[in-house]
Amino acid sequence: MKQFKGIAENIETPILGLVTRNPLSLSRGNSVLVTEETSLLSRGFVGLITKGCGKKKSSFPQAKVSGEVLDKLEDGDCVLIGKDGIITVVWEKRAPMNPLLLTEMCDCRCLMCPQPPKAHDRTLTETSKHILNLVKIHINQTICLTGGEPTLLKEDFFDILGLIKKKHPKSTVMLLTNGKSFANFEFTKRFVSLRPKDFLTCVSMHSDVDEVHDRIVGVKNSFYKTAMGLQNLARFREKIEIRIVVSRINAHRLESIATFIQRNFPFIIHCTFMGMEITGLACDNYETVWIDPHEYRDELSRAIRVLSRADMNVSIYNLPLCLVEPKSWSFARKSISGWKNDYLPVCEGCAVKEDCCGIFTTSGLHQSPYISPQ
Ligand code: SF4
Ligand code: SF4
Repeated sequence: MKQFKGIAENIETPILGLVTRNPLSLSRGNSVLVTEETSLLSRGFVGLITKGCGKKKSSFPQAKVSGEVLDKLEDGDCVLIGKDGIITVVWEKRAPMNPLLLTEMCDCRCLMCPQPPKAHDRTLTETSKHILNLVKIHINQTICLTGGEPTLLKEDFFDILGLIKKKHPKSTVMLLTNGKSFANFEFTKRFVSLRPKDFLTCVSMHSDVDEVHDRIVGVKNSFYKTAMGLQNLARFREKIEIRIVVSRINAHRLESIATFIQRNFPFIIHCTFMGMEITGLACDNYETVWIDPHEYRDELSRAIRVLSRADMNVSIYNLPLCLVEPKSWSFARKSISGWKNDYLPVCEGCAVKEDCCGIFTTSGLHQSPYISPQ
């Protein structure tokens, strides 16, 4: 998520509100006023974001930032201002997809997890509920429920599904999950009865071999639970996507994985092979998990062919086109979220830049030496 550093003044607890530049706003109890200077009209807002150079001292809770940051905030964005003055844009009005981080707890510990599991912090769930109560969701905008493993929240997870259904009945929702909770049939049944109408469950499955999958996700018996979860979701004809994160451990098996998916889960509506983001646990386990996508491009093309020949919908996420064989380019999507996507200086002048997803800025210096203009 986009973040900006501000200087906090009078912020005793984190502030959440919708950005407005209208000092006469009638919903100031839910809004953060973005203004160059404070004035009498700044009263009543949950917080202010003001220009750092303003000399006036005031008692309003506010974060002081540069003029450049003021310009980057848009009316209708939802921001969280921490006690340390950091402003996080937790909902971007114009983003096609906004993630809601419901929890950081997880019942897996994947070697390449970008969001290392932590004990549950209730404020994440409460903040997500608050965001859902505040924002307006536009047609074609997706809510992405993510974690950690959101389904572990149980009642809170179901409450969030209910809240979306009630407040945003027409929204498109996707859930990122390891799928293990759905191995419980009663849980799946309840989920199906409560979820919003337009809902896609995206399940991670990283191998066709139980031991390999369990090694990647760090917990024994995960493979069978995830497979059972997929079958239970299918019994209710749920919309399912399978996500395979490609690492050094599974890269040589992509074709077998594709065959396994085609034979066992033909009911899914989408399958995607994903390039890794080198952050979180992927940094700690770099030597074990990192493989240059250039090394597995042939294997990836064969895997894509298996699924596309079976008429299954298949994509490649997070891989620059120059690391994918040209015959598979039509399957590669611009999948990296705007706030963590960029291009390298060598990309200037590349003929396919418009269609390329570029790189993860979050991966820092861990970039393939094979990135080169086409
Ligand atoms: S990648 Fe997903 S399933 Fe794996 S540990 Fe991280 S949050 Fe859990
Ligand atoms: S050079 Fe840059 S823009 Fe061109 S394909 Fe590679 S990553 Fe994409």
